[in-house]
Amino acid sequence: MSALNKVRSAGFTVSLDGDDLLIEPFSRLLPSQIDFLKINKSKIIDDLIQEQLLIPKKRSGLKPADRQRLLDYMAFIDETDDDLIQDYLDGCERDSMVLQYQLEYIVAEMEPKAPAIEKMIKCGDCLYWRPINLHGRGGGHCAAGVYPLGCCHWSETHKLCESFEVKNG
Ligand code: SF4
Repeated sequence: MSALNKVRSAGFTVSLDGDDLLIEPFSRLLPSQIDFLKINKSKIIDDLIQEQLLIPKKRSGLKPADRQRLLDYMAFIDETDDDLIQDYLDGCERDSMVLQYQLEYIVAEMEPKAPAIEKMIKCGDCLYWRPINLHGRGGGHCAAGVYPLGCCHWSETHKLCESFEVKNG
């Protein structure tokens, strides 16, 4: 496993900030993880640059019908923040795998069902939630592996999840 994937599999998001690395959430890094990052920084930067070079080849192209489906889902979960919605659309447009995952996820989420609302939780309240935005809302990842690494889902969506652990504080 590459150094980049090791960091990601530990639940952190890694991106380039100019010539430097941006690790989120930085405050959760253990001293041993910081040492690992120092040793492997140049390898991780190289891998991120390679990834960025590959991104245009994987763009989904977002067809109008898919775009509308994603917007319908934003309305379904009462998301009204234009910046968050645009982030979501951009993320799906950038990567065809993420788009595919989201479209399947949306079908399951929007199916009529009668859930036990008192048992429903939100990923944003979970210990394993790793937001991709500094403000902590909107898209993110599940560090418990309930969703595949790299697939964004939404912090505000009500759902049932057996792996949910309430976040401290
Ligand atoms: S464990 Fe479940 S509730 Fe927690 S972040 Fe993952 S999917 Fe969301």
